[in-house]
Amino acid sequence: MLRGIKRLNRYEKRLLRIAKLGGKLVKINQAGFSRRTDEGFRFPIYSLEIGTKEGLEKHPVGITAGVHGLETIGIQILIDFLEYIISPKSTGYLPELKKGKLGLVIIPIVNPGGVAAKTRSNPGGVDLMRNSGIDAEKPLPFFGGQKFSNKLPYFRGHGLEPESRTLSRTVFERFFHVQDSILPVLDLHSGFGTVDNVWWPYAYTHRPCTDTALYEKIASHFKDHCGHINFAYGPQSASYTTHGDLWDKFYDHYQELYSEQESWSSRFLPLTLEVGTWSDIKEEPMKLFSKKGIFRPAEHNKSEVLTRYRGFLRDFVRLGLTKPKDWIEAQ
Ligand SMILES: [Zn+2]
Repeated sequence: MLRGIKRLNRYEKRLLRIAKLGGKLVKINQAGFSRRTDEGFRFPIYSLEIGTKEGLEKHPVGITAGVHGLETIGIQILIDFLEYIISPKSTGYLPELKKGKLGLVIIPIVNPGGVAAKTRSNPGGVDLMRNSGIDAEKPLPFFGGQKFSNKLPYFRGHGLEPESRTLSRTVFERFFHVQDSILPVLDLHSGFGTVDNVWWPYAYTHRPCTDTALYEKIASHFKDHCGHINFAYGPQSASYTTHGDLWDKFYDHYQELYSEQESWSSRFLPLTLEVGTWSDIKEEPMKLFSKKGIFRPAEHNKSEVLTRYRGFLRDFVRLGLTKPKDWIEAQ
């Protein structure tokens, strides 16, 4: 546990430094608490708001990481990215944040209890990306989520965990009421496969989601216009289906609220970046059970891994500068 807690402290220190660097533009909030550990401790879950009031209210873009406690590579990619864009001296500096044209809503560590304990699941043994309550069509056995025991991986839990509720509340409050905007949210993970995947909904079904055409356009934009050709773009279900994906739940909730309102132009667009860590679960299924296993890349190329995603994340964030009509009319 100690090493995990030290790691968590290290990340939190860097986040405080980012807040200091950003001055008035950065606010750190406590968005919620983790599930209680066996020792009775609840970890605070922090969110960062970066930008002016106008930028955050009208053009919010979300990035989250650390849903799975072992996937610390996503947390480090996110922290590296924030350092890259926040300082006016940096080559990646994003002036739009100061100008009120963009606002970032960040939850850097959704599952701090998992990071501290070095577990994929939260302190209750629940896999948060199996926790939404949605049932999948033909999920991968076991890996797709199970209801047998919290002592085994991929446990779905009973009802939404505190971490899932914190994420849900933040997404709802920050994104669901914003009018006439493109509302992209990226969740950083690592583990599956040998390539980097950029997934859009759904995880639970092969049925295409309402915004499939728009997502495909965004994927072409990333590939052809921004040059991010080393990513595999597509619905998550093209890789595998799972029970309980939280983004499926949020996406469907948004559709329920607005899909019948013709005057509603905003688009809520969750995406998952799954950083490939070069092993194949089909060839080495036992890696699913090993602690370090598939969730972390080999040590030697770690720092290169962190900075490799700066350009992609920057272009992702800049989607928030576009308007729904920019995409829809050109279709
Ligand atoms: Zn993950």
